[in-house]
Amino acid sequence: MRSVQKSEPVFTPYFSKVIIMPIFRNFINQLKCVSILIVLFSFSGYSQEEYKDPKNKALKETYSGGPFYEVSHYPQKFSKKSPKNIILMIGDGMGLAHVFASMTANRGHLFLENFKQIGFSRTNSSDDYITDSAAGATALSAGIKTYNGAVGVDPDKKVVPGIRELAEKKGLKTGLVSTSAITHATPACFIAHTESRGNYEDIAAQFLTTNIDVFIGGGINNFEKRKDGRNLTNELKDKGYQVLYKISDIQKVKSGKLAGLTAESHNPIMPERGEMLVPATETAISLLSQSKKGFFLMVEGSEIDFLAHENITPGVVLETLDFDRAIGSALKFAASNGETLIIVTADHETGGMSINGGDYKTGMVTAKYTSGEHTGIAVPIYAFGPGAEEFTGFMENTDIAKKMMKLLRLIP
Ligand code: MG
Ligand code: ZN
Repeated sequence: MRSVQKSEPVFTPYFSKVIIMPIFRNFINQLKCVSILIVLFSFSGYSQEEYKDPKNKALKETYSGGPFYEVSHYPQKFSKKSPKNIILMIGDGMGLAHVFASMTANRGHLFLENFKQIGFSRTNSSDDYITDSAAGATALSAGIKTYNGAVGVDPDKKVVPGIRELAEKKGLKTGLVSTSAITHATPACFIAHTESRGNYEDIAAQFLTTNIDVFIGGGINNFEKRKDGRNLTNELKDKGYQVLYKISDIQKVKSGKLAGLTAESHNPIMPERGEMLVPATETAISLLSQSKKGFFLMVEGSEIDFLAHENITPGVVLETLDFDRAIGSALKFAASNGETLIIVTADHETGGMSINGGDYKTGMVTAKYTSGEHTGIAVPIYAFGPGAEEFTGFMENTDIAKKMMKLLRLIP
């Protein structure tokens, strides 16, 4: 609701076409996202009730500083030339400004500064200069440009295999972690094939048709409260999965297959979510790294995008810092393992965010936004580990998938 700005009485055709229609379209596009945010904010102990007030722009724009964490630095020495494992980390909507605002908030440092090989990805989809998260994740997963809304299918709606399933076929262990529902567009493109990202129940059902080893995220309702009456968590249990709902139980799992469903739909935004992404990432890595043949893991910081749509800087910063700490966990593993490549990137930028002020001493940072939607600007790619040098310079988002597939020898 907050994304529909109260319309002024001036109602010229220009105003209608250029101002209202894009906002309205965005509103429809983001209806799910927004309604979830409204629910979240109404239960929120975020003490940011003021954000609900559309007039309170300054509060939305400025993160006033807060606690910070120390970042560790890891040597760039790897035992192998090519990776046995790949951890792909997608910050949904995370452009350079989102990263740099968070770096400022954390007193000038992020785990991301361990990444010395940096490139840029063009994010356009097959039918639009500006991608949505489904076409963006299909590009990162399957290495093809497709239409906005497509999940793992090409512009002709033909199924295209993604890196996770190719890895699974080759005997690698595979996993998905997200803070959103695990059925939401980004993770969906690494598990399912469907014409429209809104087919959540279809996407949930497709988890049963794979041999995925670990998945942790929200989305219980798509597994248990379904129109077709199936209870997919019971079916998962029959297939041998440990199905767990609390992160405190999830992080105790030491072996076997794991389905962690920590929210009915999306997990709450930070800070209400608490420790979820970091322990989920660590649990997934500890289970997948038991594989002799290697593993592929996708970890998504999903809700950076949600807050960027809302142009809420404190939310963007807290979500990006949470994601960076998950990156820290992946780095710790990769640095000791020596044959793990970590790729951190985004599916697109959200909000047209720019940084207009900051203070490294207090962590204060203030940002402005040119959009409530995704934008067309290229997004950074950060690579660490064997094969990282492949990811420098400008490239298509589809190249990232193809390069990862080649490095894991999934394609010639
Ligand atoms: Mg996403
Ligand atoms: Zn978005």
